Amino acid sequence: MTEVRLTGGCQCGAVRYALTEQPSEPHVCHCRMCQKAFGSFFAPLTGVPLSAFKTTRGDPAIFKSSDRAERGFCRRCGTPLTFHYVTSPRIAVSIGSLDHPERVKPKAQYGVEGRLPWFASIAGLPGEKTTEQDDPELAAAIAGSNRQHPDHDTKDWPPS
Ligand SMILES: [Zn+2]
Ligand SMILES: [Zn+2]
Repeated sequence: MTEVRLTGGCQCGAVRYALTEQPSEPHVCHCRMCQKAFGSFFAPLTGVPLSAFKTTRGDPAIFKSSDRAERGFCRRCGTPLTFHYVTSPRIAVSIGSLDHPERVKPKAQYGVEGRLPWFASIAGLPGEKTTEQDDPELAAAIAGSNRQHPDHDTKDWPPS
């Protein structure tokens, strides 16, 4: 059996995947197409050979953002999952969709022509924890109805 190095999936859990090799070339891409596709300032991506990417539950829907590129996402919850140049033997996954994104540290920035001018200042902004400002009732309501798939593989989906 092939060894699974890293696992990941979408927010709702309909799509789960496994990487059977340690991914390489971790980066963020600031290009405008990645900004739109991720609804974010940049896309965090890391790649493996196509043969090292396996879906273990469901399959991503594909949007061809050009004749050259396919972007995979969950058709149910919308999480951006993959990026693939159609002629490439490699595929990239979104680092944020990994169960342990902290294990893949970006080593480069691409598409820097699209980098937002204030991007570098974000890390220096004042910060707060997620729940500090929540009223306890709201925090309890969110925790009690959390539909995000846990950060590990599960047997049953959707959860009952
Ligand atoms: Zn999903
Ligand atoms: Zn890009």
